[in-house]
Amino acid sequence: MTDQPLTPAAVDALRQQFRASLAAATAAPQLTALKDEFLGRKSGLVTALLKGLGSLTPDQKREMGAQVNALKQEVEAALTEGLAAAQDARPVGAVDVTLPGRDLPAGRIHPLMRVRQQVEDIFLRMGYEILEGPEVEDDFHNFEALNMPPDHPARDMQDTLYLGAPIVGGIWGQHRVPGGPDAQVRAATLLRTHTSAMQIRYMKTFTPPVRIIVPGRVYRRDDLDLSHTPMFQQFEGLVVGEGITLTDLKGTLEAMMRALFGGETKVRLRPSFFPYTEPSAEVDVSCQGCGGTGCGTCKHTGWLEILGSGMVHPAVLEAVGYDPEKVTGFAFGLGLERVAMLKYGVDDIRLFYENDLRFLEQFPPL
Ligand SMILES: [Zn+2]
Repeated sequence: MTDQPLTPAAVDALRQQFRASLAAATAAPQLTALKDEFLGRKSGLVTALLKGLGSLTPDQKREMGAQVNALKQEVEAALTEGLAAAQDARPVGAVDVTLPGRDLPAGRIHPLMRVRQQVEDIFLRMGYEILEGPEVEDDFHNFEALNMPPDHPARDMQDTLYLGAPIVGGIWGQHRVPGGPDAQVRAATLLRTHTSAMQIRYMKTFTPPVRIIVPGRVYRRDDLDLSHTPMFQQFEGLVVGEGITLTDLKGTLEAMMRALFGGETKVRLRPSFFPYTEPSAEVDVSCQGCGGTGCGTCKHTGWLEILGSGMVHPAVLEAVGYDPEKVTGFAFGLGLERVAMLKYGVDDIRLFYENDLRFLEQFPPL
């Protein structure tokens, strides 16, 4: 290169060569190659022209130097512009950093846990303590202290899963204790059939006033069907103090149901029987489906049964050492599954325990 004479024609020829190459180059790699070819420090074509300036006279040097520099600037400017344009016109499929990010699949809170958290929040705001208690219980806390002595017929209402030796058999076989049949029953350990057992544990430990909520799993010897599972979740409420009345119970239940189902929800109490409350009441809420006018969900009654409740039986207060002449109380227990079924319109309790993503994904994340 350097032995070629440096003439205006040579500069012009290289300019034409560059322009032709540039016209053929569109992508960034081609443009980068052009930059090397023309401006490379050692063997670039424009660089070679500049080296040729050395053999010229000072006048020629000034004249040709200006021409070569003009070419160099044209090459530089054209390549800079071309590379910038190539950057903007990336092919389809390249990363577009201006697009919003993709959502990662988020986990969801199980509908039962969602309801449990809601109920806990409602009662925390009302000043209740929340505690769980053991799932393996003894006969005293699960039955006897709740006004159900060994021969009480109400025990049949709750088919019990025994762990130790109950009246007949049991997984450990024969288990006899001194003191006759009643002592035998009392020696049994079992899976708690209701969270009410925790009422007894709490009241034995603390003096009134009592305001507690006990959420947790309970167990009964039930077959699986649309509305029964052998394990389900309860929510126990207990308030004991001076001057607690049935009105307090109804007000509390109303506050809970309106927080769960909406401000228009109505509550009604129907007389019922539980051994550990007197008087006892089944509690209905106005149907969410029809607002109380009657529909298929509520069997055209306008009401849905939701929980059991009542005033704590004096015998229960005595069993834990409270004086029923001084303090009174109310208690209620509801199934979390029942609340979730009504709240979300689920008609089969088994869906909560099958872990079918098609079911669970219908509930919004968090
Ligand atoms: Zn209805």
